[in-house]
Amino acid sequence: MIEDLADRGQPGDTRDITRHCDVVVIGAGTLGLPTTALLAREAGKRVICLESGGEQQQSETHPLNAIDGASRGYRGAAHGRFRCLGGTSSRWGATLIPFQQADLEGAGWPLRLNELTPHLPAAERFFGLDHSAYDASDLPVALGPTHVARLAKMPSFRHRNVAHLVGDELRQSRRAEVWLNATVIGLDADAGGAGVQVRARAPEGQTLTVSAPRLIIAAGAIETTRLALLLDRGCDGEIRRTSPDLGRFFTDHISLPVADIEPLNRAALNRIVGYRFGASGSMRNLRFELAPQSAARREAPPNFAYVGFEPPRTGGFEALHGLFKSVQIGQLPPARVVGEGLRHLPWLIRAAWWRLAYKRLLYPSEVPLQAYIVAEQRADRGNRISLSETRRDQYGVPLPVLDWRLADADYDGLERAAALLEETWTGSGLARLGRFRRRPVGRATARPADNYHPTGSTRMGRDASCGVVDRDLRLFARPQVQLLATSVLPTGGGANPTLMAFLLALRCVEQHAQAQPHGRKTGAARSAAAR
Ligand SMILES: Cc1cc2nc3c(=O)[nH]c(=O)nc-3n(C[C@H](O)[C@H](O)[C@H](O)COP(=O)(O)OP(=O)(O)OC[C@H]3O[C@@H](n4cnc5c(N)ncnc54)[C@H](O)[C@@H]3O)c2cc1C
Repeated sequence: MIEDLADRGQPGDTRDITRHCDVVVIGAGTLGLPTTALLAREAGKRVICLESGGEQQQSETHPLNAIDGASRGYRGAAHGRFRCLGGTSSRWGATLIPFQQADLEGAGWPLRLNELTPHLPAAERFFGLDHSAYDASDLPVALGPTHVARLAKMPSFRHRNVAHLVGDELRQSRRAEVWLNATVIGLDADAGGAGVQVRARAPEGQTLTVSAPRLIIAAGAIETTRLALLLDRGCDGEIRRTSPDLGRFFTDHISLPVADIEPLNRAALNRIVGYRFGASGSMRNLRFELAPQSAARREAPPNFAYVGFEPPRTGGFEALHGLFKSVQIGQLPPARVVGEGLRHLPWLIRAAWWRLAYKRLLYPSEVPLQAYIVAEQRADRGNRISLSETRRDQYGVPLPVLDWRLADADYDGLERAAALLEETWTGSGLARLGRFRRRPVGRATARPADNYHPTGSTRMGRDASCGVVDRDLRLFARPQVQLLATSVLPTGGGANPTLMAFLLALRCVEQHAQAQPHGRKTGAARSAAAR
């Protein structure tokens, strides 16, 4: 069932609603909502999921996502997270691809990639994707030893929003309750590992208190870290005494265009590097990553490169994009988008032809093409999330303070990654399709941006001296609490990170199912998406 805490009682009603369940989940976003559905469906758990937002977030920013501190330049804080049923999956690109094992080597991961990949087929089924390989073995150009070509998978726009995938199931569920407009403002976890109590509040004052033996915090990377810090404050700093890295090593991917690509054969280039269409509206996107055995891995951070463009503000492409984004959010397209589409009907007809004939997304002819690099930021203990001593949100909860800076090593890494990409490009058949005109990427000229891929601030580790949670996502200091967000990934790797966190979610559900006397014993989450 899905309830709205704001609809309970009269505004200002301070009577507390109380509930007890097996597992309480904080956050009904990309990771929390599927986890709630699967825990109920596959592990037979009574689950209560507390979500800060309502059915949809209408605007592009949210007042509860305010931060304090010097790093307001970190755009992901305001623009990289959404509060509603489905969370950030209502807006994300949904590019899904596992990291390479080489990205994990020597980076402090307490897990090997092959401990997560058994869950890959279930993750793909969940998002309505096929099970084809991630290597782009059909590329008509040979790349040389430094890079490999890989193809990420993207679900259809409707399937990108997890609220569309499990919302109906949850509305009918008798084991799972999702509470909207229920922002968690306080949490306690018994020191003996026995249980948790979580307090949530609606904007007009209604409150809900849930107690359970187990808690999963799936509130997004920044907010999960903030809630863990709040829990730490409530237990006199014991979590940070146990795991001194709580809040530390906050990193993101950094990205920027590193070259202008001057097309020599634009159509042929578009057919190689353009987004590919798969079955049922799914798509694939080509990227160049460092080869697993490449010596370049000693010179440049894990990264991926792709050919793209700054999305135009007007035109047929913008209309198409706006239309599909509305489908993802679950809204009708704005009249402006429909008008723009009608004005650019000839381009849309050409794009439809490209889709049918070449199974490729037609790039708008007027836009300049660029090579982008998205690189792992060096893990730096000084980049951190902490709790503000002076500023609080509307519920009186301290704002998160974000200290996030780029180091010279990050610029050097980008520069080296760009040089390696240029060598690969000019030494391969790609050079016949477009000229690679390198741009300066040094600190003096370039302005790399974060990429909405926050990691590291509640990192997994082999033990509490180097990690906040263990390989099963349990807080070392409070094992009844699990953290489920990209903040548990010790490093950002050379690919978009959310699939890795989603695989961790499926592994977590399977572990809960195995611990359940009446639940399915094996492969529960792996079979989950078969339904
Ligand atoms: C524009 C954009 C494009 C992206 N594209 C990609 C991509 O292509 N590939 C990729 O891998 N990643 C991508 N990402 C990143 C990806 O979206 C995130 O990694 C992912 O959505 C995080 O999922 P989550 O469940 O941790 O957080 P969310 O989906 O943000 O869910 C967290 C939920 O917790 C709720 N919450 C927060 N605090 C509280 C509280 N105190 N009480 C109750 N509820 C709370 C929030 O309201 C929210 O609904 C993109 C992000 C953006 C913004």
